[in-house]
Amino acid sequence: MDIAWSAAELKFRDEVRDFFATQLSDELRAAGRWMTSVYADHKLSLLWQKRLAQQGWAAPAWPVEYGGCGWSVAQHYIFARERAQAGAPPLSPMGISMCAPALIGHGSKAQKDYFLPRTLSGEIFWCQGYSEPNSGSDLASLKMSARREGDNFICNGQKIWTTHADVANWIFCLVRSSTEDRPQKGISFLLIDMRSPGIEVRPIISLTGEHIQNEIFFTDVRVPVANVVGEIGGGWHVAKYLLEFERGGTAYAPELQVMLEQLRAACPPGMLDDPAFSAKLADAAIRISALEMFELRAMSALSAGGAPGIAASVMKITGTELRQLMTELSLEAAGKWGRGYRPEAGVPGGPVSYPHAARNAGPRAAQVAPLRYFNERAGSIYAGSNEIQRNILVKAALGI
Ligand SMILES: Cc1cc2nc3c(=O)[nH]c(=O)nc-3n(C[C@H](O)[C@H](O)[C@H](O)COP(=O)(O)OP(=O)(O)OC[C@H]3O[C@@H](n4cnc5c(N)ncnc54)[C@H](O)[C@@H]3O)c2cc1C
Repeated sequence: MDIAWSAAELKFRDEVRDFFATQLSDELRAAGRWMTSVYADHKLSLLWQKRLAQQGWAAPAWPVEYGGCGWSVAQHYIFARERAQAGAPPLSPMGISMCAPALIGHGSKAQKDYFLPRTLSGEIFWCQGYSEPNSGSDLASLKMSARREGDNFICNGQKIWTTHADVANWIFCLVRSSTEDRPQKGISFLLIDMRSPGIEVRPIISLTGEHIQNEIFFTDVRVPVANVVGEIGGGWHVAKYLLEFERGGTAYAPELQVMLEQLRAACPPGMLDDPAFSAKLADAAIRISALEMFELRAMSALSAGGAPGIAASVMKITGTELRQLMTELSLEAAGKWGRGYRPEAGVPGGPVSYPHAARNAGPRAAQVAPLRYFNERAGSIYAGSNEIQRNILVKAALGI
């Protein structure tokens, strides 16, 4: 495949590069460069989203009528690569990349008119309420109830692992609105205002000492029936559509290429000459390039109007495994500085500050290496675990 950029694409690349160079403050750049997980510092990420929204680039993949860019596959890819290269903080995927496609695909006109512009500007910040204590991989067994009472649902139950529930003002939830049919049929996709009475958010502190995930308890929370997206009881259909975007809507390779460059730069003197270590780096580089080709092909199919399909599962498995590999190699490069447990470094999902830096904590790349290592373990669990993705592939590709 010839992936040499055309003159027009190179012009676009320069425009994007120039935008990042002039618009990213040192603080924003640091928020992107020193992230400890897949999430950047919430406030800085939102600030950056507002700037991108002014430029018209906050949600390039949306249809143009709702604020998307109408870019070609190449332009999307160039933008992702330049973003990663410039160290711009990524935007939270929950609204722009997950809830919005569900609204665009299945929402009413009123829902689109209200939620899409506010999601774009960051005024509405979403979290995703799917998982429950006993319903993760087996999502269809979820129990959070939505009992109809006139024009409202009365919601009771618990969600868990909800990323950014502590800062979100809206949540898109899967709730059980009926228990009469088979499990998948009684589920509705419901938008809930997090400021509603009866909602309690409790923090989950991760191994790194950071607070990014939460538990949410719903007690008699009143939600208008008008907040159901799609049909009442048709939430499974909406959720499956959305999950494909969660797994396959973004390319992993642009960030992986930058992680690889940063890893090379962070290696202490002599390490790149070590044949055993450089063989591991070469293997990683080849696998990242192979993923890049796969992703370009998948994005090409997307731009022709398709959904990600099973390519989403391939990208999720390969992308997260390679990210994990990058964090393992970074920990190896960090050597003695990559100590395993640094709860004092906990700034939620953002840049790391070290009150104990005076104790000579080593180079900054080495300081964040253990945090990234631990946070990246979750990559093969969330958004549908990699075992579940393999099940999907086996069923779809081999018909087993
Ligand atoms: C950091 C993080 C952030 C998250 N953010 C969110 C969020 O914002 N919103 C949200 O709703 N959820 C979120 N989740 C939850 C996530 O989606 C679930 O953890 C995931 O779906 C797995 O479910 P579980 O934790 O209940 O594990 P289980 O489903 O109990 O799985 C346990 C193990 O068994 C394996 N397994 C289960 N079933 C099968 C099977 N049929 N075949 C083969 N292997 C199987 C799994 O792969 C896994 O290894 C997050 C999770 C993490 C770790």
